[in-house]
Amino acid sequence: MDNVTPLGGDVYEIDTRMAGYSGITAGYLILGDRPCLVETGTSTSAPVVRDALSSLGVGPDDLATVVVTHIHLDHAGGVGDIASFYPSAEIVVHEKGARHLADPSRLMASAKMVWGDKLDVLFGALAPTDAARIRALGDTGTIALGNGRTLASHYSPGHAKHHVGLLDSLTGDLYVGDAAGVYLPETGDLRPATPPPDFDLDVALGSIGLFAALKPQRLLFSHYGPVEDVPSTLERSAEELRIWVDLTRRARDEGLDLDHAVAMVRDRTRERYAALRAGEATAEQFELLSGAPSNVAGIMHWLDRTPR
Ligand SMILES: [Zn+2]
Repeated sequence: MDNVTPLGGDVYEIDTRMAGYSGITAGYLILGDRPCLVETGTSTSAPVVRDALSSLGVGPDDLATVVVTHIHLDHAGGVGDIASFYPSAEIVVHEKGARHLADPSRLMASAKMVWGDKLDVLFGALAPTDAARIRALGDTGTIALGNGRTLASHYSPGHAKHHVGLLDSLTGDLYVGDAAGVYLPETGDLRPATPPPDFDLDVALGSIGLFAALKPQRLLFSHYGPVEDVPSTLERSAEELRIWVDLTRRARDEGLDLDHAVAMVRDRTRERYAALRAGEATAEQFELLSGAPSNVAGIMHWLDRTPR
């Protein structure tokens, strides 16, 4: 299938085609004795993911595990649908996200506040998952992939308080979710993802430091794809966070309201991103996932509740 890319080590990247877009939301299948899906994509992505798994020989009773890095809808919106397609699969998520997968009503209500009428088109509705099928992760945890291979989870808040990174014992792949930002493979751009209400600079930098200390061989971004140059990419992730926070702090100190702060930060960061300079089509789609309004609002929210 044209939305499935083998990455080596029995790992397959699946373009989950959020809202019909290509190349902005990735899920990953780790094949083996106990096939594991990392990230479901949105609810409307679930049939796309099912077709991809079927093309890889994973039938309804074959999927052992579904794990999400965090419960934002572009990562976990399809959990309820995927859980019903694959009745044997265990659903794995950080403990701070578990109850929202069992009862998505509050999560969906707050998403509706943020996205309004766009919610249905972009994400669809997260369906509930039977709580008995959900395994909640603490600060660390382990997922068995078969033959002694494991995926080790590492709590990595900052982008979201229910975020984990996942390290593959065989390949050294680290699934970074959104904790290291949003990567554009077309241009090599890396932008931070600092949405409200959870973003916290110090905590986010701590998670990036943790990722570096794990010494992964490769980073697998949910947006989007594999990156081999690990140390410099993680350094860039941290640098991007600091720059966006510095600029937002300056806008706030000048008394700008949110709209003007967004315009200023967008303007002063534009030159950093080849995609924006070149007017790449994909850059517009990425605005959905780590847009300046959401990033600046998240940083403002953090500044508001953080003494200097
Ligand atoms: Zn995301």
